[in-house]
Amino acid sequence: MADINTEVLIIGGGVAGSAAACALSKKGYEVLLLEKSEKPQDTARGDHLQPAVCEILGNWDVLDRFFKSGAKKRAGSLWFDEDANFLMDANVSNLNIPEPYFMFMNHEDISGVFVSAAEENQNFSFMCPIVSCAHIETNDEESVFEIKSKDGAIKTVATKMIMIADGVASNMGRYFKFERTSFRYERALAVLFSDEYKADDFNNLRTYLTDRGIVTMIPRAKGGCKIGLTINRDEIKSWKKMSPEEYQDFIGQLVPTYKNLKMYSAGIYPPSMIIAENWSKENIVLIGDACHGLHPGRSQGMNTTIKCVDHLLGLLPPKESFEKKSVAKSLEQYQKEMKSNINELLEANHSMGLSMDSFDRKSKVDEIEKFKLLEQNKEAGHNYRMKSAGYGVF
Ligand SMILES: Cc1cc2nc3c(=O)[nH]c(=O)nc-3n(C[C@H](O)[C@H](O)[C@H](O)COP(=O)(O)OP(=O)(O)OC[C@H]3O[C@@H](n4cnc5c(N)ncnc54)[C@H](O)[C@@H]3O)c2cc1C
Repeated sequence: MADINTEVLIIGGGVAGSAAACALSKKGYEVLLLEKSEKPQDTARGDHLQPAVCEILGNWDVLDRFFKSGAKKRAGSLWFDEDANFLMDANVSNLNIPEPYFMFMNHEDISGVFVSAAEENQNFSFMCPIVSCAHIETNDEESVFEIKSKDGAIKTVATKMIMIADGVASNMGRYFKFERTSFRYERALAVLFSDEYKADDFNNLRTYLTDRGIVTMIPRAKGGCKIGLTINRDEIKSWKKMSPEEYQDFIGQLVPTYKNLKMYSAGIYPPSMIIAENWSKENIVLIGDACHGLHPGRSQGMNTTIKCVDHLLGLLPPKESFEKKSVAKSLEQYQKEMKSNINELLEANHSMGLSMDSFDRKSKVDEIEKFKLLEQNKEAGHNYRMKSAGYGVF
């Protein structure tokens, strides 16, 4: 007899695990969420959620909680050339969709909002920080784990369903022998913060097309901005040693309008694409970066994850018949339906990653033409905005 019996065990309390915990516990399932880290999450990562995802969060009845917790709205993206000449306004505020805005919130705060929403349900428990979570056995009825907390306490947990949400390294996925294919991109994503940056009234993201790729100014929910650009792998070493003044010079040379903006380093992310060949196996399902690690250039990691969790939610057996066998059937169906949907998105995301790797002066000229045309052509511009809002493959 296990110490704890639950219907769903979620391993990993990042955005994927905490979003799943929120959605599933709100639907009435018993959920135990495990997180090993006490530290706040990496603050330079994903903070931009698409309108289609806001619609999902509204259906989960958690959207208002985000705004009460400090999330902000942005109309969209403005595109410029490196001399700050305007090219396109890709704002979504005139689209005929339920939530015509992007929502943004500092990454380290997002999981906390999901967890606090889950905590309103008596059927939700959270163990954090845990030291280890070891699989003991899986029989016809359930899977059994042994969990060690930081205070030394050891508990056994029996569960009908396992969600692996332990991020891109996914040691749990490896343990359960999920095969993954991976691709390492050539250029790394460098992120800077500026506390001085002033966003416009619509909190628009401003993207500049330069000879070495895009430079994006992304307003942050607590003020200032995040600056994203790509650098070559062989530049990483020297980039890490640069002073704030040197970063300022570097950005100022690429986009002179920011030559006086003070900034400092927030991190470097060597992107890779990682895709699990199978997303589910019996009563186990992979979610988030553990399942599909995407190039961050299009802000799709969390967005895709939340869409996946929502789809899965609609396929799980009702509480009355929530058994290991019925769960396995639902997960098989989930993989069949969602994997083909997402594959197209993954491919589009991958070719964008490749084009960021080979971006040069010619690509800049082509992209400038593309955005000018999108601004002029009503239908093409509308399609672009709908896709960027998360309705269709972007
Ligand atoms: C610079 C950058 C910008 C980005 N911008 C965006 C954006 O704007 N929009 C967007 O949608 N996406 C964006 N992304 C992607 C997004 O941040 C990720 O896709 C998302 O955070 C992944 O969430 P996750 O929960 O799957 O993984 P993680 O955030 O890695 O969470 C995994 C969690 O599991 C825990 N864990 C690991 N092993 C165990 C274990 N054995 N037991 C218990 N816990 C464990 C870890 O401590 C961690 O908390 C960006 C990424 C980067 C790098």
